Amino acid sequence: MSWEAVIGLEVHVQLKTAEKLFCPDSTVFGADPNSNVCPVCLGLPGALPVLNQQAVELAVRTALALECRVHRTSVFARKNYFYPDLPKGYQISQFERPLATGGLFSAPHPEGGRVEVRIRRIHMEEDAGKSVHDRLPHATAVDLNRTGTPLVEIVTEPDLRSPEGARAFLQGLKHHLEYLEVSDCNMEEGSLRVDANVSLRRSGTEALGTKTELKNLNTFSGVEKALVLEIERQRAELDDGRAVEHQTLLWDGARGEIRPMRTKEESHDYRYFPDPDLPPLIVEESEVEAIRGQLPEFPQARRLRFQEEFGLPEYDAGVLTATRGLADYFERAAAAVGDGKLASNWVMGPVLQELNQRGLDPKEFPLDPVVLAELVELVQSEVISHRVGRKVLVSVLETGKSPAAIVEEEGLAQVKDEDALEEWVSQVLDSHPDEVQRLQEGEDRLLGFFVGQVMRVSEGKADPKEVSRRLRDAVS
Ligand SMILES: [Zn+2]
Repeated sequence: MSWEAVIGLEVHVQLKTAEKLFCPDSTVFGADPNSNVCPVCLGLPGALPVLNQQAVELAVRTALALECRVHRTSVFARKNYFYPDLPKGYQISQFERPLATGGLFSAPHPEGGRVEVRIRRIHMEEDAGKSVHDRLPHATAVDLNRTGTPLVEIVTEPDLRSPEGARAFLQGLKHHLEYLEVSDCNMEEGSLRVDANVSLRRSGTEALGTKTELKNLNTFSGVEKALVLEIERQRAELDDGRAVEHQTLLWDGARGEIRPMRTKEESHDYRYFPDPDLPPLIVEESEVEAIRGQLPEFPQARRLRFQEEFGLPEYDAGVLTATRGLADYFERAAAAVGDGKLASNWVMGPVLQELNQRGLDPKEFPLDPVVLAELVELVQSEVISHRVGRKVLVSVLETGKSPAAIVEEEGLAQVKDEDALEEWVSQVLDSHPDEVQRLQEGEDRLLGFFVGQVMRVSEGKADPKEVSRRLRDAVS
């Protein structure tokens, strides 16, 4: 019997605000336990929540970027349940009337084509605290710093059909949200968390089977592996003529296994009701349109534009649009250099290398694209060699001086002086008699070796074209 998997996702995304959703406590990650708390997020009697408008704006951006319809009126509701990391005894979320519904998002599939998923709804909610199991021996600690942190929950329709597709969708979504600058999407710090629903049905049929819920999927590989295991488990049940039981399963990344968590609470168990402390959230059409007007150009569109506008190969355009910061840097460099392909070579080569080595975001890279262009010009006009150019780039980063000043101070300009060139060339030829003989016998690839040696001896100051010409003359 052949079965088809039906997968839907719930993605919790932490919004990039400085303050919590209903109080002014900091949302910074890694603060001392229970240091960023106040009467509001601790749920002390009489404390009243005040909605963070920045969070609303980021949530609306998210909704628009996923082609959802943003509703003028949405309602905050209390989701009631007991858990040690939830001091109020309820979580403020949105239930019957979410912020936005009816969107669509597609991402490239690794096997080609795109994986397209409808977005059922996006709602705003506050995060719970964190139970810490590894801090105290024989006890669980509770850290409430995260309590009240603003989230959006993105709920998809069950449009995914495979674990690889789910992973590809999530990777695309993360990339999209990073461009949007609504979240840092840092999975290790819990800024992007995923739950998945999965069921099987006979291939070719429409009716949905009984689904199970997978929780704690906090890495892309975890999502994929957990889904693979759960699909196998359900298939074995069904093949043996048993029914799939409706349940919640927890992914244990360390052990690479899934295990039952608790029987699924139905939504009515939460006794949702509108929060009496918060008025309905009204987002006017004009506000929505203003936010829509500020949406960035997204990675896919930007990659295509880079290919067309700057004549870049698809691969280069993909590398340069990997993050919004790098794409912005490249565009400024291309404008300053006046040649997209040349700018792309420098950004993809030396600039990216320095960024990676220094662990920097392109936004904080101290080399202004205009200064990069000055350096590129020195190389293009053959004042310095390409090799020296890379050295100068590092010096600019370390000293903050201009490329021209560094070339001047360190005497790096290429030497076209006949005597000096002659001296370097003969020095290198004299010290490699065997290679000279092989070159004379027709082993042409050794020319590159000799040019390299002369460049080394001259500390990069020799003009490589001139060196090459002289070497040929010398051995012919
Ligand atoms: Zn607070």
